[in-house]
Amino acid sequence: MASNPSVDAIVDSPVLTLEGNILWQFENLSEFGAQTLKMQVAQGTLSGEIALDMSASPPKGPGVTRKTAGIPEIHIALSHLEMIWAFVYGWMVVYEESVQKPQLCPKRVMNAETEKLVDQAHGLLEWSASLREAYTPWPAGLPSPRHYSTKQEEWYGLKANLVFQKAISYLLCHERAHAALGHLDVIQNAAGAGLRLDMEKEADVAAYDDFLGQSLDDREKLPEAWAVISVMLSTFYLYRDPRNALLPGGHPALHHRVAHMIGRLALTDPRYNDYFSFLCRLVLQAVFPEDLEPKRQFYDSGDALTDAFDRLDRLALEPMPHGQSSG
Ligand SMILES: [Zn+2]
Repeated sequence: MASNPSVDAIVDSPVLTLEGNILWQFENLSEFGAQTLKMQVAQGTLSGEIALDMSASPPKGPGVTRKTAGIPEIHIALSHLEMIWAFVYGWMVVYEESVQKPQLCPKRVMNAETEKLVDQAHGLLEWSASLREAYTPWPAGLPSPRHYSTKQEEWYGLKANLVFQKAISYLLCHERAHAALGHLDVIQNAAGAGLRLDMEKEADVAAYDDFLGQSLDDREKLPEAWAVISVMLSTFYLYRDPRNALLPGGHPALHHRVAHMIGRLALTDPRYNDYFSFLCRLVLQAVFPEDLEPKRQFYDSGDALTDAFDRLDRLALEPMPHGQSSG
């Protein structure tokens, strides 16, 4: 990755230990697609380099823009990569240890080590959510791809690394698809909002097919499902006011993109479908605590998620308070 150091660059980010793995994932994707990355690079329709924005500033989503000689280049922000790793690790620990395991075994008592594991994961989630206000370096002592205090942290860390790598390749595939499908002129000229939305949907679908085009069964799909769902849900953390994400901007309304992904994952085993529906409900509840009333009871996780989407649809219709700007 080509980096772009500036005065206040992020120093020594722990996610850079995974840089090689991210690039490998990306370069080896879409061997099944119509156009491989190598073909795109050879044709000059995409740069083989990814520009890494190292600025110590709030995370921004990736993009693809034409550089010198008109060759499109994908750019991605390091603070965004950090936010996504922390999101994946944090939610994985919190969801598995404080939601899934107690559900499977209600009498289980958390030992001190697991309590600490969950506390640290909450710490990491708080930090990742705080980045949208102002960038601060990775908190010392909290888990990262380079540092685990316990075996348990390491076990989750290795799982999170795999999902993180896949999440980043999904993001890169989305940008790659924009270049491959000839979207760049419309996107750069901010022409036709309706056309732009169609292109975003098209890029989501193409990226998904690159990523999960092979017929995997539900169990094999788990890291991929975690990856695409984490990409979608963590996008709420890019907005200072997450309500702005509920409105179609450049991209379709974010909760609609989440719903679309859940539909496309098409998990046939109800266990796995419930697992991800309930995860989505919990994350949305954490993002919109007042609007999603955590204490409500539901029939099943499908109802719980549908209820969340309906409430977010209604929330999107409410006028925004003054002084709120989009992220
Ligand atoms: Zn896009």
